[in-house]
Amino acid sequence: MKPFAYERPVDVSSAVTTVAGRPEASFLAGGTNLVDLMKMEVLTPELLVDVRHLVSRRIETLPGGGLRIGAGVSNNELAADRRIRRRYPVLSQALLAGASYQLRNLATVGGNFLQRTRCPYFRDVTMPCNKREPGTGCAARDGHQRDLAVLGASDSCVATHPSDMAVAMAALDAVVHTVGPAGERSIQVNELYRSPADGPERDTVLERGELITAVELPASPVAATSRYRKVRDRASYAFALVSVAAALEVRDGSVTEVRLALGGVAHKPWRAATAERALLGRPATEANFRAAAEAELAAAQALAGNAFKVPLARNTVVSMLRTLTEEA
Ligand SMILES: Cc1cc2nc3c(=O)[nH]c(=O)nc-3n(C[C@H](O)[C@H](O)[C@H](O)COP(=O)(O)OP(=O)(O)OC[C@H]3O[C@@H](n4cnc5c(N)ncnc54)[C@H](O)[C@@H]3O)c2cc1C
Ligand code: SF4
Repeated sequence: MKPFAYERPVDVSSAVTTVAGRPEASFLAGGTNLVDLMKMEVLTPELLVDVRHLVSRRIETLPGGGLRIGAGVSNNELAADRRIRRRYPVLSQALLAGASYQLRNLATVGGNFLQRTRCPYFRDVTMPCNKREPGTGCAARDGHQRDLAVLGASDSCVATHPSDMAVAMAALDAVVHTVGPAGERSIQVNELYRSPADGPERDTVLERGELITAVELPASPVAATSRYRKVRDRASYAFALVSVAAALEVRDGSVTEVRLALGGVAHKPWRAATAERALLGRPATEANFRAAAEAELAAAQALAGNAFKVPLARNTVVSMLRTLTEEA
């Protein structure tokens, strides 16, 4: 690992100023992704600015019934919180489907959103990769394709976003709060991630030095009937081939509310808005679930090695909606 300096600033504004002013500086939270990438020399920051003690580790109930989650809350603390388990079970299940107990104790909410892709060519500095080194090409297109994206990819990058938590957050319409050099702002999780067509080296719309301080979950009665399902190559310690976060309300046999997001299929958590529109007001039948999933996946562009993801995503959506209907 290359030598680096370490700083523990006293407040948020000095952390933001330091990272904004120094291109070789990086925020450090739990370090479970960043330090891995430093060991492989995929990332080589010269200065780590520790922010874990600066951002809140509290989960607060908001006046309207939503929750505000500090960016420093660990993945395990969030998954175990009684309010999350009862009112947003999809989020607790998504967190528990990720990594290991020990890693989730260190990993933070802020770091989880910003973890980098697990594309093997991104993590191998001997291979061309537009995300790691712009303009060098994409080794994945003609390489190992099993984990690649089928929705929203570009010629320059076909990688997927690895976070389980972010898929649940996308389905729940969560909003990320930040402090950056230009002040504070709020960003819908569904607008946090950039398209790989616009330069795959930048994953998100965040500016250099912009710190995630918290994330808010709006009050959502339908979220109490929600679930997360992750399909992967082995039962634990593996990233999603396909995952589905869903919440459903059925009245008199028809869908009155639905939230649907997919993981493992795109460069970002994929909010399945087309499928949601196709379902709303329709009878909650298997045929309609299938038609909605197919409408969402109509734009899919698969490669030979990841074409299985399209029927897998469709079937997982159908099975999940069937389960939620039976439970309702
Ligand atoms: C073996 C292994 C298995 C895993 N399996 C899964 C899995 O199945 N599913 C899954 O979702 N994840 C999985 N993970 C990834 C894990 O969830 C992430 O590593 C973790 O969530 C990152 O959080 P962190 O606090 O450690 O971030 P760090 O590693 O400290 O930081 C990650 C990035 O976020 C930036 N950052 C951190 N905090 C902030 C902030 N507040 N504001 C702005 N920028 C910030 C850092 O600069 C860095 O770029 C796995 C990881 C490992 C090592
Ligand atoms: S898919 Fe993206 S991350 Fe993977 S090698 Fe290609 S450019 Fe790099």
